[in-house]
Amino acid sequence: MGDLRDTVLDVEVDDTRSAPLPDVWSPTSVNTFIKCPLAYWWQYAQGWRTAPTAALEAGSLVHGVLEELMDLVPAERTKERAREIYAERASELALTLNPRVDAEDLRSRAGTAMTSYFELEDPQLVEVLPDGLERSVSAQLDGVAIAGSVDRLEFSVGGARVVDYKTGGAKPRYAEAYWRQLMLYAGMLDETGMDVSEVGLMYLGQPARLMVRPTPESALTRASRDLTTAADSRAEFVATHRWEARTGPLCSYCPFRTACPARSQRQVPTPGSDASHDALGRLPELVWRPRQREGSASADSGVSGSGVTGSEESD
Ligand code: SF4
Repeated sequence: MGDLRDTVLDVEVDDTRSAPLPDVWSPTSVNTFIKCPLAYWWQYAQGWRTAPTAALEAGSLVHGVLEELMDLVPAERTKERAREIYAERASELALTLNPRVDAEDLRSRAGTAMTSYFELEDPQLVEVLPDGLERSVSAQLDGVAIAGSVDRLEFSVGGARVVDYKTGGAKPRYAEAYWRQLMLYAGMLDETGMDVSEVGLMYLGQPARLMVRPTPESALTRASRDLTTAADSRAEFVATHRWEARTGPLCSYCPFRTACPARSQRQVPTPGSDASHDALGRLPELVWRPRQREGSASADSGVSGSGVTGSEESD
């Protein structure tokens, strides 16, 4: 096989094990699909999940700490209180932590993120909107159902500000997906009658804070168009049992790369066949949690934290 970068290959799959796909998209699933429909199929139809990693666990821990901290009245959002919340949550996590996860790596990532957070802002000055933490939001955008959860909604001049925490660094390879995620949130909130005047990312691995104001109409329109294009393409792939594999630099982080006909240097079994399934089952970075075949098509179960293929990033 020649150059494997940035090619599109039409791959026939075996859907014997596939479950119905979710009727409701999420920003995460849209990003996964746009990056590579075949990786989406492996996750959402076949039920493969990324095994817990230090990055993912650190991301969950830090998101939880910040949610609890921001839920306090502003005067109580101190570093000391944050340390207490962190210690409580870290102790609880230690009791259930998967032994495969490097606990020291997790502590280091989470500690860096918390330090970065306080370098980026003073939480006592943030005006969180009522029910503005981990706000569930859903809407129909151009007739396609989508739902998600916004990390933080806060007051901003002229409307609401949508803030998303990223516990990793500001890696260019994920920037497009992250901004699409924010624009989809803004589009959903707009549909529910909320004026969104600003969207922003807080990278806690660096630290860095990127805000866009006002929410650009063109970006919102493009995010909606990405969603409808994904929905239309998915329907075609489901009907034909042929899914596009889109290779590119992110393949290096894809947990399916050794079983992927577009990526592997050798002949590999048909995705979804017993041989392919067994090969994936031997990989420590994957776990198989099949979706229910009946009564489960209405909700997006979510797969890995970042909405990008691979497990090096956390939400
Ligand atoms: S290795 Fe690349 S082409 Fe293959 S499934 Fe993963 S992201 Fe898609």
